[in-house]
Amino acid sequence: KRRKVKVQYQDRETAIRPDEDSIGSSEDAQIKICPPHPGYFGGLCFRCGKRQDEEDVPGVAFGYVHKGLRLGTTEIDRLRGSDLKNLLREKKLILILDLDHTLINSTKLHDISAAENNLGIQIAASKDDPNGSLFTLEGMQMLTKLRPFVRKFLKEASNMFEMYIYTMGDKAYAIEIAKLLDPRNVYFNSKVISNSDCTQRHQKGLDMVLGAESVAVILDDTEYVWQKHKENLILMERYHYFASSCRQFGFSVKSLSELMQDERGSDGALATILDVLKRIHTIFFDLVGYLSTCFYHKLLSRCLSTAVHKLDSSKH
Ligand SMILES: [Mg+2]
Ligand SMILES: [Zn+2]
Repeated sequence: KRRKVKVQYQDRETAIRPDEDSIGSSEDAQIKICPPHPGYFGGLCFRCGKRQDEEDVPGVAFGYVHKGLRLGTTEIDRLRGSDLKNLLREKKLILILDLDHTLINSTKLHDISAAENNLGIQIAASKDDPNGSLFTLEGMQMLTKLRPFVRKFLKEASNMFEMYIYTMGDKAYAIEIAKLLDPRNVYFNSKVISNSDCTQRHQKGLDMVLGAESVAVILDDTEYVWQKHKENLILMERYHYFASSCRQFGFSVKSLSELMQDERGSDGALATILDVLKRIHTIFFDLVGYLSTCFYHKLLSRCLSTAVHKLDSSKH
């Protein structure tokens, strides 16, 4: 990776003055093109080795990629640009997935209702069946229920999208859930963003995603965290499985768990959204051949509203 960066910056060397107070040999050709520093790893610029100056960098920490990695805005733009080209070549868009109430529902053990207890929900969750949908999160005192259809959803969506998990939950929780959803680590790799990565409190931002905003589709049940990216958002119908989840949202009805029922799989929420995503993907790539890159952002949001509008009208 380092080599690639070096080559790409080589032709700019002569145009930019050497950085006088750089640490290390001034003979090193790479030094001459900093600043701006592309980014820092462990507090040192990964191109010239200069120490990070606190006031210096408008940039973002990418702790979920690697602890201690910080990228400058120019480098982020460069990565996003090359990422976009690769994605479009592979006919893929980006899909950002929320966890709670979108793909799963979790409950703390001490919030389990008497009815759930009587039905033996904890015993059912302790069976440790990798193909099951109810799991105990060891060490977290929690149970998690996967939303029906989620495995098929991820498998099919991964053919059309590069996928990220993006949750307001903490990192340990996010990683545990990622293991349940993606045991072979083929869908998300390290693309799991959690609350410690967010740059703004109580907001999710695409500044944390090393993919182009213009091709990112977001699935989330919570609208207000995406203030800056409403055009990219498809609002999900909330998945409440556990009694505590219903209580928390003010529903005084029996939960699915208490009724021993579940949302439908093959024509439930995730299956419906998968169809919407397929439509977005098809419309986008049908049109993209005719248009130039600068139209992508508006194009995707048009695809989204077209596909979602169809979904809404089919409900009535
Ligand atoms: Mg949620
Ligand atoms: Zn540097």
